[in-house]
Amino acid sequence: MTPADPAPLIRFERLNKWFGDSFHVLRDIDLTVARGERIVVCGPSGSGKSTLIRCINALEPFQEGRLLVDGIELGVEGREDDRAVTRVRQRVGMVFQQFNLFPHLTVLQNLTLAPMHVARLPRARAEAQALQQLERVHIAEQAHKFPLQLSGGQQQRVAIARALCLAPQILLFDEPTSALDPEMIHEVLDVMGELARQGITMVCVTHEMGFARSVADRVVFMDQGQIVEQGPPDRFFDQPRTRRAQAFLERIL
Ligand code: ADP
Ligand code: MG
Repeated sequence: MTPADPAPLIRFERLNKWFGDSFHVLRDIDLTVARGERIVVCGPSGSGKSTLIRCINALEPFQEGRLLVDGIELGVEGREDDRAVTRVRQRVGMVFQQFNLFPHLTVLQNLTLAPMHVARLPRARAEAQALQQLERVHIAEQAHKFPLQLSGGQQQRVAIARALCLAPQILLFDEPTSALDPEMIHEVLDVMGELARQGITMVCVTHEMGFARSVADRVVFMDQGQIVEQGPPDRFFDQPRTRRAQAFLERIL
C-alpha cells in the first residue's frame, strides 16, 4: 500500500454467511487486501474458500457484516444495490476451475463477447484488445480455434485472457489448475506469476504451494468457515502457528 492509496481494495468486516437457515459457511471474516497485493487462500475442502471469493464478485449473498470492493459497499442480503453490484463486477475478473468457455464460439469470439455486448465496444476495438490479451497469455496464434481444439492448459489461459479483456482491477482464481493434467499446470501458473509481477491484485484459491511461496504476498488459511491463520508464505509454510494449519500442511506437503 502506498501512502497515496491508503484504502484497501477489498475489505471484509465481520462478514457472516449461512446457506439456508442453519449452515454457517463463513464466520466472522475480517480480511483486507491492498491494491497490488497477491493473496493465496488455502484450506481443506469444504472450508469455505470458494464461497469467500465468490462474495467478492457478488456471486454469493451474505447476511451479516460488511464487504467493500474498491470502496463500493456490497450490502447484506435483501439490501443489495444493483448499481453497486454492477460497478463491483466491472472491477473484478474471475477464473474458475472449469474454464466455462463457450464451445460453439472461437477463442476470439469468447473474448469479444462481453466487451461488445456488455461494455459496448465496437468489434474492431474488442478484437484488437482480445488479441493483446491473448498475447499476454502467449496464445495469440490460437485465436481462431474453438476451445475444444485446445489443451486444458491453453483453454485456461484463454479464460484468463477473457477475464483480462474487461480490464479488471482484481483477478479472482478458484483452483485454476485443479482440472488440468499435471504437465499443463505450470504453463497456467507461469502466466499467473507474470500477471502478478505486472501488479494486478489477485486473490487465488490454490493448493499449488510452490506458486504460493514464489508469488503470494500473504497466505490466508481457512478451516470450517473461518480464517484461522494468515501471514507471509515463508512463515506460514515453515512455522504454521495453529494446529489446524500444521495438520493441513502435513497432509498436502
Ligand atoms: P471450498 O471451496 O473450501 O471447498 P466451498 O466454499 O465450496 O468450500 O463450500 C463450503 C461449504 O459450503 C461446503 O460444505 C459446501 O458443501 C457448502 N456449500 C457450497 N455451496 C453451497 C450451496 N449453494 N448451498 C449449500 N451448501 C453449499
Ligand atoms: Mg472450492
